[in-house]
Amino acid sequence: MESFDVILVGGGLQSGLCALAALHRRSGLRAAIVERDGRLGGNHTWCFHGGDVEPEDQAWLEPLVVRCWPSYDVAFPGFRRTLDVPYSAVTAERLDEVVGRAVRESSGGAVFCGASATRVAAGEVELADGRRLRAPVVLDARGPEPGDPGGCGFQKFVGLELRLAGPCGLERPLVMDATVPQRDGFRFFYALPFAPDRVLLEDTYFSDRPELDRAALRAGILAASEARGWSVSEVLREEEGVLPMPWRRPAVSVEPPYAGGYRGGWFHPATGYSFPIAVRVARRLADALPGGPGTAAWARWRSEHERQAGFGRLLNRMLFAGIAPDERWRVFARFHRLPEPTIRRFYALRSDWADRVRIVLGSRPHALPTPRMLYRWLTA
Ligand SMILES: Cc1cc2nc3c(=O)[nH]c(=O)nc-3n(C[C@H](O)[C@H](O)[C@H](O)COP(=O)(O)OP(=O)(O)OC[C@H]3O[C@@H](n4cnc5c(N)ncnc54)[C@H](O)[C@@H]3O)c2cc1C
Repeated sequence: MESFDVILVGGGLQSGLCALAALHRRSGLRAAIVERDGRLGGNHTWCFHGGDVEPEDQAWLEPLVVRCWPSYDVAFPGFRRTLDVPYSAVTAERLDEVVGRAVRESSGGAVFCGASATRVAAGEVELADGRRLRAPVVLDARGPEPGDPGGCGFQKFVGLELRLAGPCGLERPLVMDATVPQRDGFRFFYALPFAPDRVLLEDTYFSDRPELDRAALRAGILAASEARGWSVSEVLREEEGVLPMPWRRPAVSVEPPYAGGYRGGWFHPATGYSFPIAVRVARRLADALPGGPGTAAWARWRSEHERQAGFGRLLNRMLFAGIAPDERWRVFARFHRLPEPTIRRFYALRSDWADRVRIVLGSRPHALPTPRMLYRWLTA
């Protein structure tokens, strides 16, 4: 049996950040990552807003960032805005490289790729090949549990990273382009210009249904590129997601093994983003090592998170149960007219009471809700 100070189960975003934070803040720590696939990180591009992470976390996050833009745009019918908020991108490829190297080069650390965890318990993890690993602290970050998240809308998208024959003309990310035809709920395009001729273009829906028609979305993205005057010379890669936007509180245990990342409900219910929250969990866990936080501290962190997440769930309930699908874009247009600090704190899941009032008042449905909508809103 191999022994470590901490075992991070599931080699995705949460475990990767925990490993980096732990090695940065606690040198000499023996960390193990267990990942079912052949490499860490899966197939994602993760982005976060400036203001999502504390200055003290910038240093250990910096090697992960493949590109940081000083500002980003949003566009709605009749309204376009540039937000002077930095926007950074991290790729799964970079996470694999940086986290893998940091853990392997640390003394006593290990990365187990192609290793499925079959039993995750407090103090012990068993792998499919029968190996057993032991550590006083085990974090279970194997991604969302399959099954019905219960009371939920969905953020779903397909993205294509495109090589273009000429420059795309975007200087900064277009994080929400809702000038596209609205269907299947609130719909927008998302464009990340990694280089003048390389752009990630995503077709995103805040929908009542989780189903994703990949072929249709793929074809639609290529058609939209052409319509923007972009001549696509190559599709470099593809990614997709169906993220829950719940309006009920998840039932998550606070007992060890600690549930991290999406599995532990550590995400922003109203945006689907988990990066800022995963950073906070990573820093707190790192500070609590090697002994571990203990159930009481973990429960306290969870209730702090739930106080903010509860507001996000209320917004989901209002959006999905209270506003007709083809009217939903107006909520986001109004939201993006709010003062920049309110928007920044919202994405960081740190809204104060004044922000909440502003957001809710700015999110009133354009038309008065029908009695049926009101009933669904109150009883969902
Ligand atoms: C395509 C995509 C893009 C996203 N973009 C953003 C974004 O821009 N910003 C943002 O904040 N959020 C984003 N999200 C949401 C969220 O941040 C991600 O889903 C994030 O990866 C969740 O982190 P996690 O560590 O909980 O799970 P994951 O990153 O999914 O990691 C879980 C890992 O566990 C592994 N695993 C599962 N079962 C086992 C097992 N039995 N044994 C061993 N390993 C196992 C999986 O293979 C996986 O690698 C995105 C989500 C998707 C799907």
